[in-house]
Formats: sequence, structure tokens, C-alpha cells
Amino acid sequence: MSSPERPYIFYELTNSLCSKCLKKAEAKIIFQNENVYMLKNCLEHGHEKVLISTDIEYYKVCRNFLKAGQMPLRFNTKTEFGCPYDCGLCPDHEQHSCLTLLELGERCNLECPICYADSGPSKGGFRSLAEIEFMLDELVKNEGQPDVVQLSGGEPTIHPEFWKIMDLCKARPIKHLMINSNGIKIAQDKEFARRLSTYMPGFEVYLQFDSLKSEPLLQLRGVDLSETRRKAINHLNEFDVSTTLVVTLSKGLNDGEIGEIIDFALAQPCIRGVTFQPIQSAGRLEGFDPSKDRLTLGEVRQMILAQSSVFRPEDIIPVPCHPDCIAMAYVLKADGKTVPLSGLIGEDVLLNGGRNTIQYENDPAIKKRLFELFSLSQTPGSSSHAVGDLLCCLPRLEHPSNLSYKNIFRVIIMEFLDAYNFDVRSVKRSCVHIVHSDGRIIPFDTYNMFYRTGLDVAALSGRKTNA
Ligand code: SF4
Ligand code: SF4
Repeated sequence: MSSPERPYIFYELTNSLCSKCLKKAEAKIIFQNENVYMLKNCLEHGHEKVLISTDIEYYKVCRNFLKAGQMPLRFNTKTEFGCPYDCGLCPDHEQHSCLTLLELGERCNLECPICYADSGPSKGGFRSLAEIEFMLDELVKNEGQPDVVQLSGGEPTIHPEFWKIMDLCKARPIKHLMINSNGIKIAQDKEFARRLSTYMPGFEVYLQFDSLKSEPLLQLRGVDLSETRRKAINHLNEFDVSTTLVVTLSKGLNDGEIGEIIDFALAQPCIRGVTFQPIQSAGRLEGFDPSKDRLTLGEVRQMILAQSSVFRPEDIIPVPCHPDCIAMAYVLKADGKTVPLSGLIGEDVLLNGGRNTIQYENDPAIKKRLFELFSLSQTPGSSSHAVGDLLCCLPRLEHPSNLSYKNIFRVIIMEFLDAYNFDVRSVKRSCVHIVHSDGRIIPFDTYNMFYRTGLDVAALSGRKTNA
């Protein structure tokens, strides 16, 4: 009798967390039925099986998109309890802050059922100018010239000293400033939108935009914001304020609208891109079952390819800073046409589909410029130079002269790690960070798990002593 076979292929071993106690748990990555799963074992709470990707080939291709990490100018904590209990950034972190969030407070004019910050009209308050200045200065000490700073909340636009905060940011060497907004204030107050435009260039609105329909908005945000979104985009178009739409994707709710949302965004002059973020397990989200409700980066990428005629598989590629969690595609918009950047470059220069290897390894100049472009530290506003530089590396290529940010459109898939899909191998490369009120710079993923609510990470690490 032949030996029985495992019903899966074991790919690798990593460390995750038990979703119940948040203590470290060894995790096997396996391939089974076209999917990638994580099998975890907590000695106290038993086994867990979590869907990690619906695309085995893409999951493996991510390993080809690695680059040497860029470090911050300083680290903020010691390596003491082991990852992820030493954030941060601790000296073991592999990537500086490409994009840093700074929360202006907990107060919000919405109370979304999916809010990871648990914000609302009667929640918390606003940070003082002194606190915000301190946090900005700590970030500048880490980064020198922070690439992208995103003011978030709660809702940043309702902070009573919003314009002073914008000026504080602009007075510092921040390359690109964003506000992460639900758009209500921008919709209600045209003058507010006009004043935002005075912060251009180097400024962008990251506009919550989950659906073109009412029902998904009611479920995700608690109110039908269709009219609010329409008015906000009209105002942003009128003053040509660079805008990225942010779509929180929920399986079976709004994931059938991905293609329509891309087409809608491409038709709006002010919109420079769309970011799709699958819902993570955090905040007020109740009834979330990670075994069936999880949308993974791989699945969202497959949905974009299925629903949009703009992209081919080689157009949506892993971002080398953090390839497991971020994928990106660029589109050039000119003369009423839309052309994916990788379509201009050519498949031969990008991926060699059959072998799934990067073929431009032999051309360091192209590789360097491509990696610079496919980074969160670029915004559509800054990327026109990087796109131009890249295209100039490809001498036989015809491309629009006078390329500006208005010609650039970018689609991003950004997946965050939670207690279910947490992978210590991946989180060390996280480049989306958040400033803690005490000045630490913490990966956004671990912040929501441990540091937002101040869990005792020393105890979780198992290294706490009574001494
Ligand atoms: S996630 Fe990064 S900063 Fe946090 S403990 Fe791990 S290596 Fe350190
Ligand atoms: S998700 Fe954003 S808009 Fe909704 S309550 Fe939270 S902070 Fe406010």
C-alpha cells in the first residue's frame, strides 16, 4: 500500500498570531485547491485555517519583487520582545515610512460600522496643535523629508484648527500631503474645496468612495452618501484638486463594482487613481468570519482583471517595498485614450510570464526607475517625473511629451494585516506607518492590533517578568 498523501502542498513556514489571544503562533503556508492558506497552531486556542490568496502564482511572483529596504534616519525603540511587540520603528524593521498617517483626533461626522478607529460624532475629541506639532516633528526626525503624510482621523476636515494644521504640515519638509476624508465637508462647502486647491501642488485628497450604489454605502457607512460623493467630486473637479478614490471592499457587497468604479474614476479630470482596500478585521466590524468573508489582494487583482478592460495581468504588479500587501498599476491618460504603462514598456521588459521572473534584471537603469515609480512614496502628483524618467530609459518608445500629473492614473490594491492573516515575514516590510502620540512610528497593521488600545505587548510576548 502506498503512503497516504497530504491534501495540500507545504510551501513555507512563518510566524503569525493566534487571532484569539494575539500571542505568536507558528504558521504553515500551504497551497490547496488553487488557494494559499495559513495553518496556525496556538497551544492554548488550537488550530486556525485562514485564506491568504486565491492566486498561487501571483503569491509566488511577489518574491521576485524584492529590493533592499530603505531605513529611517533613526529607530525609535529597542528590539526587546520580538516582532511584532517592539514597534517602533525598532531596528529590526526593514522599510522606512513611505506613507505616514497622522490622526488629528477621534471625532468624526460619520459613525461607520466598519471604522477601525471606532470614531464617531460623540467619540473622543481633537488633538491639540501642540500635540500635532510634536508628532510631525518626531516624524521629520525619522524621515528627514517624509515622502507622503496623510492627515486622517476621525475626519480631519472637521478639526477646528484644520487650516493651521495644514500650514504646520506645509511648513515642514513633507514632499506630499494628503487628507483622508469622507468628503462631507468638501461636498457641503465649495469654498472649503477652493481653499484646499491653494495647497496644490504636493497635495491630494484621499476620498472615501466605496460604491456607486446606495445599498453598499448604507451597509459600510450607515448612510447613503451617493449625493455627498457626487457633490464632493464636482467641487474637486471645479478646482482641479488632485484626488484618489479609496474603495473599502467587502466580499459580495461592492466587489462587483470594481470595473465600474475604475471607469467612473478615469472619466473624472481631478481623479488620479483608485485605491482598493479589502476590509480587514478591526474596529467595530462585527460578525466578520475570516474563513469566508476575507477578500485577499490576489482575489481583488483577479477581480480587476475580470471587470476592467484596461488592464492585463502584467500591468498590476507587486510594489517592491512591500510586495505581499501592495500591488500597483499605472495608466497614462492622453488624447482621450488610456494606456497601461506596462503596456507601453512591453511585456518583455516587465514580466516574463512563463517563468514568472523579472526580465529587466539585466538593465539596472530600467529596474531602478521602475522600482522608484512603483512605490507608495510616489503619488500621482509626483510620479509624472518618475514616469517621464522611466520612459526616457526606453528610447524606442513613443510617449506623450509634456507629461504631467494629469496624465497619470494609478490603481493600487492595499491589503492590511490583521490578527488572522498576520505574517511576521511580511509585516517587517510594512511601509505604511502611523505616528503614535508618544512619537513612535508604528506600522499601521500592528497599530490597529496592539498599540491603538495600548495592549500589554510585553505580556503578550511572554517575556514579562514580575521583577
Ligand atoms: S513590525 Fe517592525 S517595528 Fe514592529 S516589532 Fe516588527 S520589526 Fe519592529
Ligand atoms: S471610517 Fe472614517 S468616516 Fe467612517 S467613522 Fe471612521 S473615521 Fe469616520
